[in-house]
Amino acid sequence: KYSAKVDYLAGLNPEQREAVLATDGPLLVLAGAGTGKTRVLITRIAHILLESRAQPWEILAVTFTNKAAREMKVRIDSFVKPLPELQWMGTFHSMSAKILRKHAELVDLKSTFTILDTDDQIRLIKQLLAAENIDEKRWPARQFAGMLDAWKNRGLQPKDVPAADSSYYANGKGGRLYHDYQARLKALNAADFGDLLLECIRLFRENPDVLAEYHRKFKYMLVDEYQDSNTAQYLWLRLLAQGKPAAEANICVVGDDDQSIYGWRGAEVDNILRFETDFPGAKVIKLERNYRSTANILKAASTLIAFNEGRLGKTLFTDVADGGDLVSFTQVYDSEEEARTIGEEIEQFQRQGEPLNSMAILVRASFQMREFEERFITLGLNYRVVGGPRFYERKEIRDALAYLRLVAQPADDLAFERIVNVPKRGIGDSTVKMLMETARGMKVPLLAATRMLVETEELKPKQRTTLRALIAQFDDWAWRSESLKPYQLVENILEESGYTDMLEAEKSVESQGRKENLKELSRSMEEFDTLGGFLEHIALVMDRDSADASDAVTIMTLHSAKGLEYDTVFLPGWEDGTFPSQRSMDESGRAGLEEERRLGYVGITRGRKRVRISAAQNRRIHGLWQSAIPSRFIDELPPDAVEVTDKGSAYGGYSYGGGAASRFNKADPFESVYETPGWKRARANQESRKGGGPLTIEGELVARSVDLGGESSGYKLGERVFHLKFGYGEVIQIEGNKLTIDFEKAGTKKVLESFIRKG
Ligand code: ATP
Ligand code: MG
Repeated sequence: KYSAKVDYLAGLNPEQREAVLATDGPLLVLAGAGTGKTRVLITRIAHILLESRAQPWEILAVTFTNKAAREMKVRIDSFVKPLPELQWMGTFHSMSAKILRKHAELVDLKSTFTILDTDDQIRLIKQLLAAENIDEKRWPARQFAGMLDAWKNRGLQPKDVPAADSSYYANGKGGRLYHDYQARLKALNAADFGDLLLECIRLFRENPDVLAEYHRKFKYMLVDEYQDSNTAQYLWLRLLAQGKPAAEANICVVGDDDQSIYGWRGAEVDNILRFETDFPGAKVIKLERNYRSTANILKAASTLIAFNEGRLGKTLFTDVADGGDLVSFTQVYDSEEEARTIGEEIEQFQRQGEPLNSMAILVRASFQMREFEERFITLGLNYRVVGGPRFYERKEIRDALAYLRLVAQPADDLAFERIVNVPKRGIGDSTVKMLMETARGMKVPLLAATRMLVETEELKPKQRTTLRALIAQFDDWAWRSESLKPYQLVENILEESGYTDMLEAEKSVESQGRKENLKELSRSMEEFDTLGGFLEHIALVMDRDSADASDAVTIMTLHSAKGLEYDTVFLPGWEDGTFPSQRSMDESGRAGLEEERRLGYVGITRGRKRVRISAAQNRRIHGLWQSAIPSRFIDELPPDAVEVTDKGSAYGGYSYGGGAASRFNKADPFESVYETPGWKRARANQESRKGGGPLTIEGELVARSVDLGGESSGYKLGERVFHLKFGYGEVIQIEGNKLTIDFEKAGTKKVLESFIRKG
């Protein structure tokens, strides 16, 4: 039996109380941001337990993230003692996985099945493509992964996929591939993320007795953030709710159509509308009083969202008479100044006694984070990045840095290992192992060992050619690094190494983000004149120990900020093309732009006391100044709730209300890249090298290979030797540590000294 720690109903307003007390029968709470929807859900669970209407394991509560589930548990703990063990509180996916493990054999799995991550999934798809002789360049695996995901989000089994849908990919092979893919998963005793729901739905449909078991089990069902549920999740819920006649189902969903921001991942706002049809007689409660934000913040958010057409329509008000601080809109010269300004403001709030925990920077795209991170590191401000690694820890950034490190420092074996087969060059693990053994045996770096191996026949011809080309590229980049600016060099490297093409070919949402991050990397390098200077800077930035995050400013995307609240919220980058995103502006129709506007609404309504929006007038891309105009959403904010500051330069500012943004172009501050004298010199050297001429630029790379080549061999002409692969032979030529051997069986081959022993 549970008892209450506090009078948990006391603080609720009448509508909230009604929503908590209406435990039986279907209930939809449709309400704007900060009206206490999540609080109602939590209080409802406490109420159900305290009234002994159900045991903790008879309550199914669905949250949007695992983090939200943990937070809910903490809050329930403050209402109820002893601590109830809510086993069925979590995301759709975690709940489904739990059910599937219990009945795995009914969907052709074993209870120990593995849940595949994205990398595994892609690898599996590639195998299938190879087996079907489908050209992966033409039909990227990631593209198919995206289609699979979309089908699964819509609750479609292979047999359900509409012909038109499956006919596109690989000239009509889409449906078959889906079928084969599922068969492979079963053979591997594995499920991908989408399967968790889909197979659970199949389990329920094909096994009425199992479904009935859960009907008896779950006496109450609750769902937070219902506006972002997709079709599969909706089907899953509806099956579970069918234990009773629809009008008596104890299901409570809370949501806000204005906060639906996962349409791109298959979320269906219409699920809110369907609720009343599916559960006739459902009670609908609207909450209109906002407890989170000041009147000015609410006004800004409500006015903005009113520009959307497809809305169910809700009102929001606050009882607090004082409007609070005005929402601010600041235009700054560029994104660097934006980071500087926000950094200053944060320090100022900190001096006034505000904890860093109470402040957040919410960005539209992850590439925007880098500038803030760097600024905060300089200032010594604690920060944490939510929902993703820090900028310099991202995979694509580390890959690019590995290339640069290897150019600057040919002995950097970690960098070599990282990129030797990224993008894929057909250099498998066994080859890498051989390179490593050689390097170790000869006590030279990997690159140097490779340099020698490619001169021999130790490697298969194909790999030899590939590695030789790679080495030539590195030599080339090393030369160019003397004359090119670091940011130009990295752009060349990404192009020429095939890295950009690799991302291009993926055609996925993530690869788009990775490309943007790489652009941001090159932008961040513009201020450095030498590669060494840049790498030194990076080493310092990366070395910063991951400080304890007890009090830290939060940096995260608008998407991951859903449901959260902060006293002070910074919303940078409100420029057309960044927010709203270019993609949403290019789209025909309003849907994309409306989803962006909802993101804006989510962003503003995260703020309790202060919301500070900013836009940069200029973004520097590829050394070219490009002017940016303030987001179209700025014009949609109510002038009386917004204060405008123009920190921009004399080049022109933004006049609020009139929409008259300045546009200007500054001439390219750099002389044309390819005409610099240094580059000409490098090119000349390269040409001379092609003709077999002497190397005229000294660099570690060159020097090392010359040195090693000059080492004298411990073998004599005519000596009998043994080679692991080629067997016995006689030394017929010696060039440093490379020997030409006349093998008894394999014929004449050039090999490395370290691969033979005296015969
Ligand atoms: P969102 O749409 O952003 O998810 P929400 O509707 O879920 O918002 P909550 O997070 O539950 O809103 O509540 C917003 C804030 O208002 C919280 O800090 C919460 O504690 C507070 N709050 C809600 N109801 C009350 C109330 N009756 N009295 C005092 N504070 C309240
Ligand atoms: Mg909420």
